[in-house]
Amino acid sequence: MTATNDELFARARAVIPGGVDSPVRAYGSVGGTPRFIVDASGPYVTDAEGRRYVDLVASWGPALLGHAHPEVVAAVQAAAARGLSFGAPTPAEAELVEEIITRVPFVERARLVSTGTEATMTAIRLARGATGRDLLIKFAGHYHGHSDGLLAAAGSGLATYALPGSAGVPEAVAAQTLVVPYNDRAALEAAFAAHPGRIAAVITEAAAANMGVVAPASGFTTFLAELCRREGALLISDEVLTGFRAARGGYAQVLREAGETLAPDLVTFGKVIGGGLPVAAVGGRADVMEMLAPMGPVYQAGTLSGNPVAVAAGLATLRLADDDVYARVAAASEIVSGAVSAALWTAGVPHVVQRAGTLFSVFFGAEVADGVPDYATAQRQDSAAYGRFFHAMLDAGVSLPPSAYEAWFLTAAHDDEALGQVLAALPAAAAAAGR
Ligand code: PMP
Repeated sequence: MTATNDELFARARAVIPGGVDSPVRAYGSVGGTPRFIVDASGPYVTDAEGRRYVDLVASWGPALLGHAHPEVVAAVQAAAARGLSFGAPTPAEAELVEEIITRVPFVERARLVSTGTEATMTAIRLARGATGRDLLIKFAGHYHGHSDGLLAAAGSGLATYALPGSAGVPEAVAAQTLVVPYNDRAALEAAFAAHPGRIAAVITEAAAANMGVVAPASGFTTFLAELCRREGALLISDEVLTGFRAARGGYAQVLREAGETLAPDLVTFGKVIGGGLPVAAVGGRADVMEMLAPMGPVYQAGTLSGNPVAVAAGLATLRLADDDVYARVAAASEIVSGAVSAALWTAGVPHVVQRAGTLFSVFFGAEVADGVPDYATAQRQDSAAYGRFFHAMLDAGVSLPPSAYEAWFLTAAHDDEALGQVLAALPAAAAAAGR
């Protein structure tokens, strides 16, 4: 007999903290038992009990093409057959970086790493090395991975579990990070004024998507870039989540099309560029990037960096991600976000849908219905209403992110049948949210 999700969770909890290898997976804020996934294909995931769900998590972003795209799987199998890891350069690494550069013109050089956490950590070290300054500014509610200096007022799992930061981060390290409300020009200027000549960098999600989706206000990104330039600080744009998902050229493309001048010195990528395997990257200005060892004095390394199997998955994914893919993801996002909103209004549930390119999330509650510009506002959402909505959708075979603080991820594989199942589930879920 196959094990149930409950049995698998109990077994995992006996040996893995919380039974999971990343906190949000534990369903801690929505309650209930996480589904243990054994199979995924296109827009669907199947759990250990054989139940199939339309998946709106998409591995938290990487599955842009849908799960187990046959051409991506074939590329991975072919690479695996040639060897799993060599600890030496391989031809495909430069091909992947060239693909990134083609899509994001201000990236002149990039180095491959394995996780978004490593990418942002390296970007910050580079910024400190390049400026000879120590302090870092981040925005409240932005998540940049779990390195020591970046866990202050962070989004994602910390927002989900209402944690202000992490134990185990030395005070001296935390003191190097200044946290400023997002979209708040005055607070940003005040932070620079309070520490003249000491800010190495500002790190920002290109569009915030780890406190729910909160796009930068019109003009904010241009203001940020100009302020950094004036103050001699570097601007790090974190596109780990938005990169090659929010649009073909990442959120930078959305900003450019909106007339913003975004010229970050450094940019980080992850998720989609690995197509579901561990690949991330830090890139940017050639003069800054060439400060990395072995050319320069800033050290960074990785046994599995540029892993050939992972790079094959990323390269296949990016090569398949053409304009048609982005059009399909955009259309699917439009259909789902519009239908969710309509169902919630019909059920009398106050909410707001917020978008950034093809990304969106839904904030529940009267206190946020006028819009969410920052983390303090995001924290006033009605997470309990989201939890009821989440479980009603799950019962109807739709797997949403198990947290009110995460973006909803559509893929190019969400066809009429999968979308139809989502739409059919909405009225009952909206009613549940309203109870
Ligand atoms: N930056 C952003 C914007 C992210 O969304 C994430 C992950 N959700 C990270 C960094 C960290 O990436 P990883 O989980 O691969 O370490």
